[in-house]
Amino acid sequence: MDYQALAELLFPDVTDTPEALEERFPPRNLPEGAVVTRMAPSPTGFVHLGNLVQGMISERMAHRSGGVLFLRVEDTDAKREVPGAVEVLIESLKHYNIHFDEGATIDGDFGNYGPYRQRQRADIYHVYAKKLVSEGKAYPCFCTEEELTAMREKQEANKETTGYYGPYAVWRDRSMEEIREQLAAGNPWVLRFRSTGSIEHQFKFDDLVKGKLTITENNVDHVLLKSDGIPTYHFAHAVDDHLMRTTHVVRGDEWLSTLPFHIQLFQALGFKLPKYVHIGPLMKMDGNSKRKLSKRKDPELALTYYKAEGFSTSAMREYLMTVLNSNFEDWRRANPDADIDTFPFSPKKLNPAGSLFDYAKLIDVSKNVISRMSAEDVYAQLTGWAEEFQPDFAEKLEADPSYAKAILAIGRGGRKPRKDLATWKDARDYMGFFYDEYLEQPVFDAKFDKAVIADVLKRFLESFDMADDSVVWFNKVKAITEAIGFTTDMKAYKQDPEAYPGTVADVSTFLRLAVTGKTNSPDLYTVMQLLGKDRTTARIHAALETLA
Ligand code: GLU
Repeated sequence: MDYQALAELLFPDVTDTPEALEERFPPRNLPEGAVVTRMAPSPTGFVHLGNLVQGMISERMAHRSGGVLFLRVEDTDAKREVPGAVEVLIESLKHYNIHFDEGATIDGDFGNYGPYRQRQRADIYHVYAKKLVSEGKAYPCFCTEEELTAMREKQEANKETTGYYGPYAVWRDRSMEEIREQLAAGNPWVLRFRSTGSIEHQFKFDDLVKGKLTITENNVDHVLLKSDGIPTYHFAHAVDDHLMRTTHVVRGDEWLSTLPFHIQLFQALGFKLPKYVHIGPLMKMDGNSKRKLSKRKDPELALTYYKAEGFSTSAMREYLMTVLNSNFEDWRRANPDADIDTFPFSPKKLNPAGSLFDYAKLIDVSKNVISRMSAEDVYAQLTGWAEEFQPDFAEKLEADPSYAKAILAIGRGGRKPRKDLATWKDARDYMGFFYDEYLEQPVFDAKFDKAVIADVLKRFLESFDMADDSVVWFNKVKAITEAIGFTTDMKAYKQDPEAYPGTVADVSTFLRLAVTGKTNSPDLYTVMQLLGKDRTTARIHAALETLA
């Protein structure tokens, strides 16, 4: 067979050459060891936690090494594409601080190795398709859907492996005449790879996450170009990652099964094989067993979920880093204030079997992260979130920023900061009482006599002086406690609770309920200072009315 002639017959319009492409996309001028990697999502419209995990891993590998991270849109499967999905993806990753150095952007492509959208690269793929055909490494296949289905049914009936291989690769060695006939009849064709592999042969392969793997050669003549001339993922990624000078392919381990074919393809194309980083799935505990997070069952798989719930982006990154590198938590303890990007992230520390996603732990990490933020930062992030999800609350926060910041500053700084907020969604419940519109009516514990509670509130009003410092203020609370026959001696109370009608803690709760509508609040003295004399006394008067 004259392969050169076949190549001309199949790709008469392709005049560009691999050599010219090599020149157009030269090796990158980067320091030794710099990682060039990419995110290569398909725009299906659903951005999930796995995308963020992959983004963080790739971003850290690229930027820690002084390399490049780019975004390539794998839009070869038009059927799965959702309009606007690329924009959603870019925005979501940006929200989480995943910055691309080049690639697809909302306003088009940016960088010297584009286009970065596969559908715009058809001409480039065809150059390599033609080259493979001219070397006898690829051939056209005219099998119809029905023929392929019949083949699969036969294989299944015979309990054989399904696929287009060996004797089933029926178009592998057809004559030029047969091919010409089919083309003349206008029959559609796909381009297939001519595999020289055998399932009898195995070889060793080193994956950066999975470690040493024993791989069985591929013997299937996989499709390279579909009948519309658009490449399959396999072919496109080989060409793209070569021409975009990718050094590391970071991707989900669902691609491990086709890795033998990919390795073969890089060899056939004469490309240097990049390093592979196959990351395991995100798992969660379901009862006593682990399972993959599922789009159908787990709303927490979607990134939009975290945004709507009001998780801070830095908390998400902090949590995911604890999941990805087990030494991160120790590092954080030793470097509580360090920028997360100074952590020596290593892909080698990823769990090859996948990472366990633990919601309770996320909440815990989030509380810590928010507790270490400045009030200024909390204010900015909280209002940003509230503008979108709780506009009425945003309005209140923004009406008096210094008041809101003073509230958010309570219990901040210091060695043991308060940990009230895990998400921005928690904020309104935590601090809403500072705004009269959100104040709830106090519900006092029915075990106390209303008259006693009212007595406490009245006595407090009589002695209340905004000029008191916190010690004087509390001494007055204690004096009221003693005056109504409650005790300030908590130890004595614990030993014999029956001996006292109540304690200073109960008295404080009466005051807290009257002023905040809640049994839990930040330091009551500070709360009163922030509310000011008029609002504090007005609230206590209002509470007295509910007791009348
Ligand atoms: N488009 C592929 C996917 O979304 C990309 C895999 C890769 O990163 O190479 O799974």
